[in-house]
Amino acid sequence: MKLLEDRIRKDGVVKAGNVLKVDSFLNHQMDIKLFNEMGREFKRLFADRPINKILTIEASGIGIACIAAQHFGVPVVFAKKAQSINIDGEVYSTKIQSFTHNKVYDVIVSKKYINTTDHILIIDDFLANGCALEGLIDLVKSAGATIEGIGICIEKGFQQGGDIIRKKGVRLESLAIVESMNDETGEIVFREQ
Ligand code: 5GP
Repeated sequence: MKLLEDRIRKDGVVKAGNVLKVDSFLNHQMDIKLFNEMGREFKRLFADRPINKILTIEASGIGIACIAAQHFGVPVVFAKKAQSINIDGEVYSTKIQSFTHNKVYDVIVSKKYINTTDHILIIDDFLANGCALEGLIDLVKSAGATIEGIGICIEKGFQQGGDIIRKKGVRLESLAIVESMNDETGEIVFREQ
């Protein structure tokens, strides 16, 4: 998506440790006009799928998931990061290793909000090593729901997540794929799509 690539080139900051900072329009301040165009693009890409719910993970997936959901006319469920799991059987749970915080979270979704009749689009802001997506896929599978696809704003194509998820046979659409980036020169190269 050219609009997003141009914005990343203009305002993205490449940090050491393979981190791309996009706080000025995606992860802290949010550019809602841009979000709306990303939401429209997700709808175009998944127009053929019978999606009735969007699943994301707190915190930074929630904004784009909500704007995308307006284009699909469906509700959003966000997986919650829990300090400890309440093992009362009311939630599906999984563990996710955070790329940015280098920490393992227990992540939960109430059984009330995902079930076997659901056709789910997973949305998240970034794809790096794929841990967040593997956890979300695990939650959907535990619920017996169907994964119709995954929509990502920015995939770092030089990390392993994209390959891992595509090998599972899940349809993954990333609006921008960073092929390489250099924290010394600030150069960012995108994959042709
Ligand atoms: P993964 O689980 O695929 O390794 O990482 C995905 C999550 O880590 C995303 O939800 C995002 O919050 C965060 N993340 C990973 N890499 C980056 C990055 O380069 N920049 C930012 N801003 N967030 C990232």
